[in-house]
Amino acid sequence: MLSTRDFIEKDYYAALGVPKDADAAAIKKAYRKLATELHPDKNPNNADAEARFKDVSEAYDVLSDTKRRAEYDDARRLFGAGGRTGGFSGGFPGGAGGGEPFDLGDLFGAAGTAGAPRGGAGGLGDLLGGLFGGGGAGTARGRSQAASGPARGQDVETEATLSFDEAVLGVTVPLRMQSPGTCPTCSGSGAKPGTSPHTCPVCQGAGVTSRSQGAFAFSEPCRNCRGTGQVVDDPCPTCSGSGITTQTRTITVRIPAGVKDGQRIRLPGKGAPGRRGGPAGDLFVVVHVAEHDLFGRKDDDLTLTVPITFAEAALGTTLTVPTLDGTVSLKVPAGTASGRTLRVRGRGVKGKGRAGDLLVTLEVAVPVRLTAAQRKVVESLAEEMDEDPRPRITAAVQAGAQR
Ligand SMILES: [Zn+2]
Ligand SMILES: [Zn+2]
Repeated sequence: MLSTRDFIEKDYYAALGVPKDADAAAIKKAYRKLATELHPDKNPNNADAEARFKDVSEAYDVLSDTKRRAEYDDARRLFGAGGRTGGFSGGFPGGAGGGEPFDLGDLFGAAGTAGAPRGGAGGLGDLLGGLFGGGGAGTARGRSQAASGPARGQDVETEATLSFDEAVLGVTVPLRMQSPGTCPTCSGSGAKPGTSPHTCPVCQGAGVTSRSQGAFAFSEPCRNCRGTGQVVDDPCPTCSGSGITTQTRTITVRIPAGVKDGQRIRLPGKGAPGRRGGPAGDLFVVVHVAEHDLFGRKDDDLTLTVPITFAEAALGTTLTVPTLDGTVSLKVPAGTASGRTLRVRGRGVKGKGRAGDLLVTLEVAVPVRLTAAQRKVVESLAEEMDEDPRPRITAAVQAGAQR
């Protein structure tokens, strides 16, 4: 809602990108260009563009009207551009439009908001009408429309705990969610079934009422209808007239393959339903991934530690190891050192990009206890393998002993 402070603080010239002494033609040209660029039809779900579109429209409304432009320039001079002005916090009355509002009809085209008055008074053009003094019973249709037009549903965040495999491979999970939604009893109207809301008699549907104080007219949200422009005689028993209830929904969502613990996934359009035909919000799912008892994970690679015997390490062998989808055969070359990691390409996490690898780390297992027969064999092995496995350590020890 526009307020006097906004009016004084807002730099309408900057909004349109024109100099303070721009003539009417330059202002109109700048506005048409920006309005076309920023139009909501061209920028769906872009709150930034929407806000700028409003700013630009507002700026044009004032600057395109010689009288209001002069008032604006005076106000900026009097109160100081950008200065805090205190005191003036009310909105402006939606007076019957003065001046010649730029016909938004040709911008909205066929997609124009239903019921928007074409031309004449009532477009955005009259939002600032009768700014200083005057006012009167305005239609302010533009504003009540903005207040009751389609609204995007809220974004909702929830959590999901996935098993390790589910996170790696992707999974479809049902999520129970509590969120505000359109009341099923009254379909969001807030009126008891069989009745319907009607236009607020106090504000005539504008959602705002105005009062005058000195040279200024203030407007404030209508108390009778709490700014909605509509009143309900028999409130819906389910939602007490708000049109919104807390609902538990179970929705099925597809969690893509390759999500990580703590990751926040955005599922567009799965959030709270929009109001009055607006689009649904987004759902954000924070995933928790449980540990696996065999596999670890490093980004898109899976890790697996596989114990092998000394004989397998020394002689080489072919192992069969598990993956998350099936098994894979792995050739261990003769003379493999303990701790060596072998890479199995493409058997890791298959996320969005290239699939990760399975990294198999081989660990030579040392038997804790030996049978008598094993002991004999190992002893004769030790005798046979009399080469010093640690010559550099031995050299260092000898150097130390001589000091
Ligand atoms: Zn209801
Ligand atoms: Zn009202």
